[in-house]
Amino acid sequence: MKSLRVGLGDRAYDILIAQNMLADIGRYLKEAGFAKRYFVVADSNVAEIYGEDMLASLRAAGYSPQLLTFPAGEESKNLALMGQLASRLARLGMDRNDALLALGGGVTGDLTGFLAASYMRGVSFVQVPTSLLAQVDSSVGGKTGVDIPEGKNLIGAFYQPRAVFIDSTVLKTLPAAELLNGLAEVIKYGVIYDRDFFDFLAERRLDILDLERSAIEKLVESCCAIKAAVVEADEREADLRRILNFGHTIGHAVEADSDFKLAHGSAVAIGMAAACRLAVLRGGFAASEAQRVIRLISDFGLPVSVPAAAEIKHLRGYLLSDKKTVGGRVFFVLPTAIGKVEISADIDPALLDQVLCS
Ligand code: ADP
Ligand code: ZN
Repeated sequence: MKSLRVGLGDRAYDILIAQNMLADIGRYLKEAGFAKRYFVVADSNVAEIYGEDMLASLRAAGYSPQLLTFPAGEESKNLALMGQLASRLARLGMDRNDALLALGGGVTGDLTGFLAASYMRGVSFVQVPTSLLAQVDSSVGGKTGVDIPEGKNLIGAFYQPRAVFIDSTVLKTLPAAELLNGLAEVIKYGVIYDRDFFDFLAERRLDILDLERSAIEKLVESCCAIKAAVVEADEREADLRRILNFGHTIGHAVEADSDFKLAHGSAVAIGMAAACRLAVLRGGFAASEAQRVIRLISDFGLPVSVPAAAEIKHLRGYLLSDKKTVGGRVFFVLPTAIGKVEISADIDPALLDQVLCS
């Protein structure tokens, strides 16, 4: 088992990573003593596959857990569903000595985390992420929230879990499209922070796509270590944490323009390719390096071109209305080398239009 500490003072917590660890989580929780009772929240798909195993693990450790399920899908990440879950918890008698356990992908983690932040003004929660995206990205860092019709994640809170348990064997049942979704964020970590990790992704690409055990284990560990280091340095996205937005500026515009039909990972992949081209046009990034990044994204089976149907004026509008845009200044995370990025807000609009067309 691998253990990583996210050092956030009195809110510090461990990320434990091991194969086949679901059965042992109950025992770890008992030792940690975070709570008297656990309320497991899972979507319909994950509850069906892993709900019983999770409950069995908690029961074996002496707990009497409850399982709360909701329909799978981003549409469930809303205030109404959160209210329903809160009512169910209240009727089950959940109190401040109890904790929530988020078993599932990013939707489950974001929703359960925000519920934990607000139920009785805050109860403990632990994350057991089951999608690759949640394992390498959303379960670490404490961003929780729900969507409203006006925008994704517009209501939420920074609220850290007490622990994160990652069992990469559960990825076996993850649909291939969901695996790809997570891989875009994985490539992002290599480009923004760690050239050796980028090289590893290029060398072990086929093993990774086959979910070969040692490759996946290293991949998950490296991504969590990078995310933990970035979050530790900048919990609330004042500075360094903004590098995690690489590929997300143009990515969010493309995603919104598709009316969210395009998967987040595909949108981020397109956004990363566009950011690489922009960095080359500005003269801060070697064309050969950009080629390597774009080739890797594409070799993994992710898109690298802005959809032909997207209109530039719409994309520009989305860029300006992004919640990370401040006073009309759109911030771009641009590579200077593989493993290093800079943040820039003074982009020549003509260059931007050029990359939005490619
Ligand atoms: P994301 O993790 O991409 O933010 P979701 O939480 O909606 O988004 O998860 C994506 C989809 O994958 C959902 O339909 C969810 O039920 C499903 N899922 C998550 N983990 C697993 C798994 N280990 N096996 C099978 N399906 C899973
Ligand atoms: Zn993302």
